[in-house]
Amino acid sequence: MEAVFRLSVLSSGSSGNATYLETGKRGVLVDAGLSCKKLKGLLARVGRGLDDVSAVFVTHGHADHTSGVKSLLRERRIPVYAAPGVAEAVKGSEPVPAGETLDFGALAATFFAVPHDAPTYGLRVSDGRRSAALATDLGEISFETIEHMRGVEALVLEANHDPEWLRRGPYSADLKRRVASRIGHLSNEQAAEAALALAPHGLKDLVLAHLSETNNSPMRATGTVRRVLKAAGHDGIRVRAAIARHPTPWIEVGQPIQDHRHVYRYGEEGAERSRLFDLG
Ligand SMILES: [Zn+2]
Ligand SMILES: [Zn+2]
Repeated sequence: MEAVFRLSVLSSGSSGNATYLETGKRGVLVDAGLSCKKLKGLLARVGRGLDDVSAVFVTHGHADHTSGVKSLLRERRIPVYAAPGVAEAVKGSEPVPAGETLDFGALAATFFAVPHDAPTYGLRVSDGRRSAALATDLGEISFETIEHMRGVEALVLEANHDPEWLRRGPYSADLKRRVASRIGHLSNEQAAEAALALAPHGLKDLVLAHLSETNNSPMRATGTVRRVLKAAGHDGIRVRAAIARHPTPWIEVGQPIQDHRHVYRYGEEGAERSRLFDLG
């Protein structure tokens, strides 16, 4: 039987980021922005532990993605991989050039560069048949970024803020400018645009991540993205939001989309038939 390829975003946002992906016996963490103790607690909530983690990938050097690496390495000798500009900043990590695929047999992973205010990378992970990608902490979605994510069936993508909420919110003018800039963070609208570009290429599950607790809400983010996808006829794509300190349910990569319109018509037809049967 084929191994299930699945993931759970354990925690997401400026207070700390970590995502767990696994296929068969091979599990990896993407980012470790929480203490080892907290990571263990979050892993336990999806029925896993540090023994299941065979590698850690670090997307960039900001503390909300790296603060747990040191305590993790103190407890377990797990290889940590990072791309140029990040590996230098994360002690104990092994450098991997962007675009080079690390092959672990059951899983293969490739970093791709994204625009942020520090060297930052997205990650594409494949089990040979299905793929997932993660990209949080990026200021804009370029054509190249879409190319790197094309064909993924599950995507963890930043939807940091609602532009209107950011504009009216309490941040200083400087910080507002930085967040909204091309090396800042993605808005809900930008996430929706990316989802729209990937929708015709097999996207089935979208997890909106790195939501600001000040300038966004899970309802606002998922509402905006769902509306855009629905208007273009892609209402089968499952859109969720990841939040801080609570793991998302398991997301099985490649789980087929249910066509709601089809199910609805089928139900109607069934109702019609049973009415006829009652009359008879
Ligand atoms: Zn971050
Ligand atoms: Zn960052």
